[in-house]
Amino acid sequence: MLYYYGLRSRFGDLESRYENQEAVMKCVICREGQTAPGQATVTLQRHESTIIFKNVPAHVCANCGEYYLSESVTDQLLTRAEAAVQSGAELEILRFAA
Ligand SMILES: [Zn+2]
Repeated sequence: MLYYYGLRSRFGDLESRYENQEAVMKCVICREGQTAPGQATVTLQRHESTIIFKNVPAHVCANCGEYYLSESVTDQLLTRAEAAVQSGAELEILRFAA
């Protein structure tokens, strides 16, 4: 069983924001920019394995580039990352879109 604590906690925080503000929200990292729908490259690391996801649907801060993912996207990333880790991949680059 693998856990990505940082990811989980950050997105847990994000979920409550989504409910209130939907499409546009203020970036919690820089507190300056607003986020807009876009795509992000997400890197996950677990022990020896690094998994990079490209073309991940996300809300991206126009100011600092921080990205925010929905719960369903996060779940898919974690599931696929875990599979890559289980396979013993040191570096895996995946496209999010099927
Ligand atoms: Zn920002």
